[in-house]
Amino acid sequence: MHVVEGNGARIPVIGLGTWELRGRTCARIVEQALRLGYRHIDTAQIYDNEREVGEGLRASGIKRNDVFVTTKVWTTHFMAKDLERSAKESLARLRLTEVDLLLLHWPNPHVPLAETLGALARVKQAGLARHIGLSNFDVAQIEEAVAACSEPLACDQVEYHPYLGQADVIEACARHGMAFVAYSPIAKGRVKGDRALARIGDRYRKTAAQICLRWLVQQNVSAIPRTSKLERLQENIDIFDFELSDEDMREITAMGSAAAR
Ligand code: NDP
Repeated sequence: MHVVEGNGARIPVIGLGTWELRGRTCARIVEQALRLGYRHIDTAQIYDNEREVGEGLRASGIKRNDVFVTTKVWTTHFMAKDLERSAKESLARLRLTEVDLLLLHWPNPHVPLAETLGALARVKQAGLARHIGLSNFDVAQIEEAVAACSEPLACDQVEYHPYLGQADVIEACARHGMAFVAYSPIAKGRVKGDRALARIGDRYRKTAAQICLRWLVQQNVSAIPRTSKLERLQENIDIFDFELSDEDMREITAMGSAAAR
């Protein structure tokens, strides 16, 4: 699996998103994804499925070190006294001794960022997370976080797809050696009915969703599409046998600017 580098972290370019996946479905999809070749699973404390993600990991039989597991601390645990405990609770639910990446899920203006980042850095130093990072931070917040954190930040995980441009955040991540991870990478399924993406897909014999995901990974961005359907697990990872032309890349990128107008 290709990876995106972020200050020492090697994040597989395609991961499985697990928001809204619950119970048996969640465990089964995680297991199947790993069997199909996914090596990156994205969960969060607030998704209420860390237990089932852990079950899926164990059921897959894939070695722990071969899978990149991301979870996120919710904003109500951003005070120094709460963050480490919260991280340990996530690990207990996952039944892991460490995660590969622990993210601050969303900026919380009510807790000083330096306090939260100090606690996050200590979680890394204690060996509970191999890498730490951000989610939903804008450019100014990235700058503030980088200046305040004693440990390198591996990434910012942000919504990004053809209908939402993120050039400024991508640029800020690159400036600081951070990876950019795209969430809702197929616009919550919206790309399926997109005629322009389908037309491009006809030329490569790929679906609109595959064209969209390929457009992301060709920008050196990691993408974490979610599906509850086995056939779509395969579809969403079957994007490494073709390359979009520069012209097609530009056409898809222009959709984001058009949507913003
Ligand atoms: P996605 O863009 O991944 O879209 C998921 C939707 O698309 C589902 O309804 C799924 O339906 C459908 N779908 C999946 N594959 C295909 C396909 N090949 N063709 C057509 N439809 C498809 O949305 P998410 O918002 O879930 O984002 C992905 C992940 O990002 C989340 O699961 C979560 O892990 C993370 N995330 C992080 C956030 C943050 O704040 N950091 C916020 C939001 C998401 P079906 O199940 O029927 O296949």
